[in-house]
Amino acid sequence: MPIRLIRQALNGKNALPRMWRAHPIKDRYDVVIIGGGAHGLACAYYLARYHGLTDVAVLDKRYIGYGGSGRNTTIIRSNYLTPEGVRFYNESVKLYEDMSQELDFNVMFSQRGHLTLAHSDAAVRTMRLRTQVNQVEGVNSRLIWPDEIKRLCPWLDVSDQPRYPILAALYHPPGGIIRHDAVVWGYAHQADKRGVHIHQNCEVTGITVEHGQVTGVDTTRGHIKTGTVLNATAGWCSTISAMAGVKLPVTSVPLQANVTEPLKPFLDVVIVSGSLHVYVSQSDRGELVMGSSVDPFTSYSMAGTLSYIEEISAQILDLLPALSKVKVLRQWAGVCDMSPDFSPMMGFTPVKGFLIDVAWGTGGFKASPIAGKMLAELIATNKTPALIEPFRLSRFAEHDLVGEKGATAVGH
Ligand SMILES: Cc1cc2nc3c(=O)[nH]c(=O)nc-3n(C[C@H](O)[C@H](O)[C@H](O)COP(=O)(O)OP(=O)(O)OC[C@H]3O[C@@H](n4cnc5c(N)ncnc54)[C@H](O)[C@@H]3O)c2cc1C
Repeated sequence: MPIRLIRQALNGKNALPRMWRAHPIKDRYDVVIIGGGAHGLACAYYLARYHGLTDVAVLDKRYIGYGGSGRNTTIIRSNYLTPEGVRFYNESVKLYEDMSQELDFNVMFSQRGHLTLAHSDAAVRTMRLRTQVNQVEGVNSRLIWPDEIKRLCPWLDVSDQPRYPILAALYHPPGGIIRHDAVVWGYAHQADKRGVHIHQNCEVTGITVEHGQVTGVDTTRGHIKTGTVLNATAGWCSTISAMAGVKLPVTSVPLQANVTEPLKPFLDVVIVSGSLHVYVSQSDRGELVMGSSVDPFTSYSMAGTLSYIEEISAQILDLLPALSKVKVLRQWAGVCDMSPDFSPMMGFTPVKGFLIDVAWGTGGFKASPIAGKMLAELIATNKTPALIEPFRLSRFAEHDLVGEKGATAVGH
């Protein structure tokens, strides 16, 4: 294989086929998906593969993976707090486990285990509750104590010396990290192969609605007629919904992350500390990938800030003082669509044919496969699958929230 690659690079002939193709935009599609992130592409793939719906367009204003799907820190887990959340994310982890075979593309899912540290009695109580809900739902999570934490990660100081001593941790062995670009490319490739059109550099500027029914979308490349539109635009979702006249209870805030220079492998577990507002894992290339809580203001900015790097450096050194000489390689930001109860919104809206797959906040990458699969089923059958029924938009008016703030990676 490497020899073939070198020969192709030198003579430019027999280049590998493109992962997805460019097509002329048709003036009508059965389904238009706005947003070429992992969610939009997953939905397109499941529609084409399992429901025979191939007259589907995925539109992205920039390129696929431009949003959170290409900017996240790749943590996959299902150790949530509510039974609804645990059930939903657990199905997603199962799909990730088989994804490389399903998409015939190596997505490099590494289930190395996920540790959420507790530094106070209140945090231990929350971890205990999460452990119990997880176990009742059949998810592998348990509460562990400093001696076992030390065995899993010898670099952590589990003595009573640190400013915020580690009292316990929620250990979730199936959690881990993945190659996020591969997930996006894999779904794009398999959707394209089955006839889905992926249109990049195609910004949606308006949505036409007649007598309460979606009839099309206006784009920078012309009008497209359709009776079904899925809004899968995460950080930008409220702007798209407003085009259809649907107001979402969502605020958009930047979330930053950074990586360090590569180090020899030493960290084979994902570490999260809500109290210290920091999480860290080591990528296959040896870089430490880390992140913190969202920026404290609403914005669509995707610029990194100096204050973020200063703060996260202090936070990470509280946890892993041995990293004091390690250099930061780069930083970036993405826009997160936060909901009032920290759970997503999926399904129907008051406008017929206008569907949503939004409010993924700081943790929606891990949900891409199951959300795509469920939304595809909803579109094909015009019925809400039971698994995503708790996440309907109308829950806010019905006072039936799914409160997941206690299970977000870091405090907000
Ligand atoms: C720094 C950071 C770290 C994160 N870490 C994790 C993590 O470890 N684990 C996890 O599960 N989640 C994580 N997340 C959250 C996760 O990235 C998102 O929830 C998820 O990727 C959302 O995917 P999506 O496909 O719905 O949207 P996106 O990937 O954001 O895609 C939306 C797309 O919509 C397009 N778009 C917007 N407006 C228009 C328009 N008008 N017309 C056409 N297209 C438009 C954008 O160009 C974009 O490509 C993180 C996010 C950030 C920013």
